[in-house]
Amino acid sequence: MIDLKNLTIKKTQEMIKKREISSKELISYYFDVVKNKNKNIHAYLEVFKDAFETAKNQDKEILSGSMAKPFFGIALAIKDNILIKGKRCSASSKILENYKAVYDATVIEKLKNSGAIFLGRTNMDEFAMGSSTENSSFGITKNPLDLKRVAGGSSGGSAAAVSMDACAAALGSDTGGSIRQPAGFCGVIGLKPTYGAVSRYGLIAMASSLDQIGPITKTVEDAEILFNAIKGKDLLDSTSIDIKISKRPNDFKKLKIGIFQYDRRGVNKCINAAIDDSIKILENLGHEIEPVDLHTLRYSLSCYYIIMPAEVSANLARFDGIRYGLVSEGQNLLEDYMKTRAQGFGEETRRRIMLGTYVLSAGYYDAYYLRAQKVRTLIKKDFQKAFDLKQDGLDAILMPTSPTPAFKIGEKASDPLQMYLSDIFTVSANLAGLPAVSIPYKNKNFTLPVGIQFIAPWFREDILFDLGKQYNQEYE
Ligand code: GLN
Repeated sequence: MIDLKNLTIKKTQEMIKKREISSKELISYYFDVVKNKNKNIHAYLEVFKDAFETAKNQDKEILSGSMAKPFFGIALAIKDNILIKGKRCSASSKILENYKAVYDATVIEKLKNSGAIFLGRTNMDEFAMGSSTENSSFGITKNPLDLKRVAGGSSGGSAAAVSMDACAAALGSDTGGSIRQPAGFCGVIGLKPTYGAVSRYGLIAMASSLDQIGPITKTVEDAEILFNAIKGKDLLDSTSIDIKISKRPNDFKKLKIGIFQYDRRGVNKCINAAIDDSIKILENLGHEIEPVDLHTLRYSLSCYYIIMPAEVSANLARFDGIRYGLVSEGQNLLEDYMKTRAQGFGEETRRRIMLGTYVLSAGYYDAYYLRAQKVRTLIKKDFQKAFDLKQDGLDAILMPTSPTPAFKIGEKASDPLQMYLSDIFTVSANLAGLPAVSIPYKNKNFTLPVGIQFIAPWFREDILFDLGKQYNQEYE
């Protein structure tokens, strides 16, 4: 019997190629895992039964002599805000509970063409707003490694599905940390690509200038494989572009890595210890280490929590009971809007719409929104300076993924500000549009997983992959 536990994309591809395993066997295995574990963990909102049919057809295709496509047999879990034609897509909101997608997101189309099999849609915070998946309208997702704790958010379902081995890999979306933070909490890899590296067409928008789709995987190598399969310019997303990079002469053996100087007092001891130890690991690998201040990052959380709700309030205006999903009729059009939105949106979603309309309103626009945009530019400039090649700049920056490991279910649910604070290390990469990855820091003495984060210059995902593999010693 072949052991199918914890198969990576890479390994599955090799096995399919050698015909050591069929797509059908793989999908049956994942269905079994879901059957055994999902009731407890609630990573999936829905499992797609037709995945089995797709697998059978792939096997037939191979038997008839066709070449296997690169993603044949690769079972993927998809966050519930990425459209798959004909499937429900709710963004974990009641307002879209029965909405069926009428087209494929570009990332889905690309993966379909490569032969990937979609196993199901995963739970998330409503409209991707939250850091624990507790804001889902359809129940929370538990952390597979400690059921009393959250899986993180907003892509908690995707991270949990990977962590509990209920898929080969998953897609999430990251507006302020929603791929990296749950990946860190669940002990897996999460990559937020450079803004524009991956098409957002078919992603239910949260905050359009910050959103990116990205992979959640078991290894850094898999993150690279999945990223390469979804990246690239798309005519349907005018902010997307093709990555063209000129390699640095020093290759990746001796990188210059900046250690972000943060205030250690507010950060959990084990996170600080993980950073200290990671510095040693990087030094032992032969990299050059130096402290980096990035002064303006202290404003990044405030800046994010102004710009993000402003964009949320605009993006969510389309859910009005006329065009999509839930309809709750009143006496007139205005009442239709009000009743539908009051019924369909959860508490956090309403809070952010109100915050967003407030910071955009006449009289407050200049004081909040405009000022936050200016701060955003300063944050971007701070990174630009740190990465500036002409001044012998950095190749990457190391910082924690989050200030604590996975917290207990309910611990922060009633205190939005505490919840927002858990995004302190992740939001700056979104504000600046930079690529960033969360990688598990491995330590036998730790009872909970801890993620560390690397941020690289724009479109330098290649540095993140190489550094990540070195850090995790995936080369061996
Ligand atoms: N936790 C952050 C928030 O609540 C990030 C969300 C996200 O990246 N989608 O806004």
